[in-house]
Amino acid sequence: MDTAFIAQLAAIVGPDGVVSNKTALSVYDCDGYTLEKSTPDLVVLPRSTGEVVAVVKLLHKEKIAFVPRGAGTGLSGGCLPVEAPVMIGTSRMNKILHIDLVNRYMVAQAGVVNLWVSNAVKSQGFQYAPDPSSQQACTIGGNVAENSGGPHTLKYGVTTNHVLGVELVLPDGEVVQLGGVVDDVLGYDLRGITIGAEGTFGIVTQATLRLTRQPQAYRTFLVVFETVPQATQTVSDVIAAGIIPAALEMMDNLMIQAVEAAFHVGFPTDAGAVLIIELDGLEAGLDPQTKKIMAICERNAAREVRLAQDEAERTALWKSRKRAIGAAGRLAPNYCTQDGVVPRTKVPDILAAIARISEKYQLRIGNVFHAGDGNIHPILLFDERNTEETERVLKAGREILQACVDLGGSLTGEHGIGVEKMGQMSLIFTPEDMLAMTQVRAVFNPENRCNPHKIFPTPHGCIDTRVPRRQASL
Ligand SMILES: Cc1cc2nc3c(=O)[nH]c(=O)nc-3n(C[C@H](O)[C@H](O)[C@H](O)COP(=O)(O)OP(=O)(O)OC[C@H]3O[C@@H](n4cnc5c(N)ncnc54)[C@H](O)[C@@H]3O)c2cc1C
Repeated sequence: MDTAFIAQLAAIVGPDGVVSNKTALSVYDCDGYTLEKSTPDLVVLPRSTGEVVAVVKLLHKEKIAFVPRGAGTGLSGGCLPVEAPVMIGTSRMNKILHIDLVNRYMVAQAGVVNLWVSNAVKSQGFQYAPDPSSQQACTIGGNVAENSGGPHTLKYGVTTNHVLGVELVLPDGEVVQLGGVVDDVLGYDLRGITIGAEGTFGIVTQATLRLTRQPQAYRTFLVVFETVPQATQTVSDVIAAGIIPAALEMMDNLMIQAVEAAFHVGFPTDAGAVLIIELDGLEAGLDPQTKKIMAICERNAAREVRLAQDEAERTALWKSRKRAIGAAGRLAPNYCTQDGVVPRTKVPDILAAIARISEKYQLRIGNVFHAGDGNIHPILLFDERNTEETERVLKAGREILQACVDLGGSLTGEHGIGVEKMGQMSLIFTPEDMLAMTQVRAVFNPENRCNPHKIFPTPHGCIDTRVPRRQASL
């Protein structure tokens, strides 16, 4: 990029807000989906809505495409620059702007880290319910873009259920306020449609977040099973008994081994599977539900049911669950986290399909996932230096998604389509469906200069990929 243009950007965000050095730029060449890489020409780091507006207006004038980025923890290549030379990062937009506990909301800049929100109101007994396992790093802007979930989605819902309003800078620099501080707004729900648009409508600069009361009490269990089917049957039986736990998470043997090696919380490394089940709510209601759950676990031949005795034990269990994907790094040089969803009664079928696919492609695949939601996360282990093995990972991933669709599920439970799954969109949508959705995008982003070549397959691929792009169909 020419120096005069860089100087114009630096005049807006300050010289330390523009990254143009090749080595520094390499940090931005992928997100958590590392199978495809592409380095931006420039990264711009504004601090305020005003700076975002000025940067975007300049890019609009010069007709330069750009890609928004939060913390880069995405798992579908959503912030990968594809024919978008400029990346707009929100890491310096990290201020909580306003807290109103009486009306139970907070206004936070897009780069505020998810966990900071709950931490800011914890001592007053409040929380922000969506808690992706990446919550120590991922940002509110990224959560809004992906409509992120997390372990407690089962009871509390996903990001869209907890974001009352968003401020969005459109690709021509206009600022729009969608939603507000109350639940019901007149007209079309443009807030709702922006949440989950994967950064293809514009840059979210701030969001109004719903705060809820922390539950009065918890019961958190680790339940150990000899086999995966015993664990999945328990999941179905708990829900069938009319109990909606706050969380119902599962890990198979491979993931138990990785987590135990990393955190030493006492997970039995010979177990076939463990469930982490959490109940929350009023203290008075929890013991009867606990009894019911214990009985269901016993009926399904649970080897052990460990009830966390205090907050420290509960925290240790959640720490190991939320860091489980990271712990997979102990098992292989690389891993690819898949994300699909099936009706929860089909969890045993999808796990059986994953086992078959693992066998067929001779790949080790661990499973750690939101079992109560039917949201699977197979972790495919590989070594990217082995290109033949990497190809097998791509094929196996596609087959897992096909199996999800065949079982009545879908391509993503929470990580989005990004670049990773564009080629599979036609498993669910007709060309007419996709055309209709791109027409919706065009209302916000008519020239498709904000995060182009995402979600919908196009004849264009990545600029600089390690693995050839899959054939596109639209
Ligand atoms: C270990 C691990 C565990 C995870 N666990 C979960 C989980 O439990 N639940 C879950 O849902 N996800 C999970 N994820 C995925 C990921 O953390 C989420 O998708 C998260 O919301 C991404 O946030 P981010 O700030 O890192 O966004 P990025 O990765 O930087 O970007 C993600 C997408 O959002 C867009 N974007 C970012 N900021 C903005 C903005 N301000 N305006 C417009 N668009 C923007 C980007 O263009 C991109 O398309 C996990 C990831 C990891 C690595």
